[in-house]
Amino acid sequence: MRIEQLSSSISIKRDIDQGTEEQRKVVTSIISDVKTRGDQALLDYTQKFDGVTLSNLFVTKEEIEEAYKLVDDEMISIIKEATDNIREYHELQRRESWMMERSDGTRLGQKITSLDAVGLYVPGGTAAYPSSVLMNVIPAQVAGVERIVLVSPPQRETGMLPPAVLVAADMAGVTEMVKVGGAQAIAALAYGTESIPPVDKITGPGNIYVALAKREVFGMVDIDMIAGPSEIVVLADETASAAEVAADLLSQAEHDALSSAVLVTTSKRLAENVAEEVEAQLSTLPREEIARESIEQNGVIYLASSMQEAVQAVNSLAPEHLEIMTDDAESIAEGIRHAGAIFIGRYSSEPVGDYFVGTNHVLPTNGTARFSSPLSVDDFIKKSSIIIYSKEAMEQNAAKIASFAREEKLEAHARAVEIRLKGE
Ligand code: NAD
Repeated sequence: MRIEQLSSSISIKRDIDQGTEEQRKVVTSIISDVKTRGDQALLDYTQKFDGVTLSNLFVTKEEIEEAYKLVDDEMISIIKEATDNIREYHELQRRESWMMERSDGTRLGQKITSLDAVGLYVPGGTAAYPSSVLMNVIPAQVAGVERIVLVSPPQRETGMLPPAVLVAADMAGVTEMVKVGGAQAIAALAYGTESIPPVDKITGPGNIYVALAKREVFGMVDIDMIAGPSEIVVLADETASAAEVAADLLSQAEHDALSSAVLVTTSKRLAENVAEEVEAQLSTLPREEIARESIEQNGVIYLASSMQEAVQAVNSLAPEHLEIMTDDAESIAEGIRHAGAIFIGRYSSEPVGDYFVGTNHVLPTNGTARFSSPLSVDDFIKKSSIIIYSKEAMEQNAAKIASFAREEKLEAHARAVEIRLKGE
């Protein structure tokens, strides 16, 4: 892993994959085909891209029962415990509607309501991510969303969704699961088909076809974000263990070759030891090839001349995950303004949050922690403004409102308030 002196102009590569022209064309054409041909288009694309001929688009009760047999009991109880932890943390994010009253009798407020229906995309492929199911489903449920539809491509060999995904979804209480992936699944969620009513928001990561389709339907429905490759920044001083820092950097690097793992440190000795440790641990990893490519392309150790300079660098990186392993890590954390999740202290290793502790692992990537937040209950609610204007307030203010309207040349607006004064 290369070591560089920190300069004032560091940033994580910020880029959104726009796909190729060909990929964009394919996505537009799949979306319009699903709009016209509905379920039949879903069946055809599943045959074409996933090699599975479906007799039923929906996951059946028998498939769920089968899935429970394929996942071992210990894993089931771990999923259950993680579910409880995630639910507990998200329950605390609930918002209440509120009203205020002025002395003239005017009452104003915000009414909080949940979205009616959301769709969750779970990527297919070789890796199955039951943790992502929990992280998306639970905040929606806590918000009060009535209908949650999970979509995911069926596995080529079995025609089923991965058993651990089915178990996690069932344990979280999802009852509508559709065996369709890619742009066609996103189109079905946004526009609806004969058997799948449309939803209001789509969350969850996927490959370039999924990402482009989500961007294409945004506006018709809401979307969570377009997730970029995963990132970790570790901020450490001489008190940190090089082996632990290296292990955490590699836990991010093994995701994919585009992931980035960065150490910012004030200690030259730690920098050198971490570089050595990364090399030693890399060669023992099952996903060595991916992790090595990620470390070689995007891994870097920045040497800062002071902790203040290091904190400033972290803020300009605005990382998805930040770990602070320094003396008095909690006070150092006070200086952090931009980071998706801040893991403080030696025992707060990133996988604790990825899987188990209860915080959400869907986090802003690509430096977007500057303006956005982890997935939360807020993503599944909306607010209506409530206005109850009193007679007294109308009498006092109608003329001012009418003047404002006439300033904007909107006469009908002005008359709509003035007419109230002529009434009983
Ligand atoms: P996927 O479910 O995202 O995509 C599979 C679908 O892509 C197929 O069903 C098919 O419909 C479509 N597709 C494939 N080739 C196509 C083509 N030529 N034309 C049109 N459509 C085509 O599964 P995947 O491909 O295995 O990708 C998983 C992705 O999810 C990866 O990119 C991975 O990095 C990402 N991921 C991200 C996170 C995260 O948190 N950011 C987590 C898990 C997975």
